[in-house]
Amino acid sequence: MAEYLASIFGTEDKVNCSFYFKIGACRHGDRCSRLHNKPTFSQTIVLLNLYQNPQNTAQTADGSHCHVSDEEVQEHYDNFFEEVFTELQEKYGEIEEMNVCDNLGDHLVGNVYVKFRREEDAERAVAELNNRWFNGQAVHAELSPVTDFRESCCRQYEMGECTRGGFCNFMHLRPISRNLQRQLYGRGPRHRSPPRSHTGHRPRERNRRHSPDHRHGRF
Ligand SMILES: [Zn+2]
Ligand SMILES: [Zn+2]
Repeated sequence: MAEYLASIFGTEDKVNCSFYFKIGACRHGDRCSRLHNKPTFSQTIVLLNLYQNPQNTAQTADGSHCHVSDEEVQEHYDNFFEEVFTELQEKYGEIEEMNVCDNLGDHLVGNVYVKFRREEDAERAVAELNNRWFNGQAVHAELSPVTDFRESCCRQYEMGECTRGGFCNFMHLRPISRNLQRQLYGRGPRHRSPPRSHTGHRPRERNRRHSPDHRHGRF
């Protein structure tokens, strides 16, 4: 495991959990032997296990899986995404980006990460959302240390080559349809844009911790 982490991050941090730092979730949860430094301020919040992919949950009474087509799943997902995005932006303030994990591991499945433009909006959202219910389940919201989703995502997944599948410990983000992208963001998702379009509009990030050793790790 240590060698595995070292191969990913370049150097191994024996104190802080690199997974929590970069991804905001770690499969060991509270039993992790390394520290999960929960941020006191952040632009980003995570709504844990909020999205339920009907392909994972649809089961008939005899336990066999119902067939849900890819188109139905995409439509269901786009509706979910639009509803959450629109409501949070109207209630709490401008959203820079929102991402949803399609992973299957308990600590990542259905996690919704919302990065607001302002930390105050994120703080208020966490406080209020923890009193809310969604689809019959209590919402669990917390501030997340994630600031740069390019560092939390599985690069192999983006190239269609992740061999770890749904139980990968890096984010497998589910894309929304192009129409919805245009509607919500106006110019496509930022983290998937070609590098040249990133110049000029990267926000200042007050909550980014100094972490020189973690910047250039390969997944
Ligand atoms: Zn951990
Ligand atoms: Zn992966």
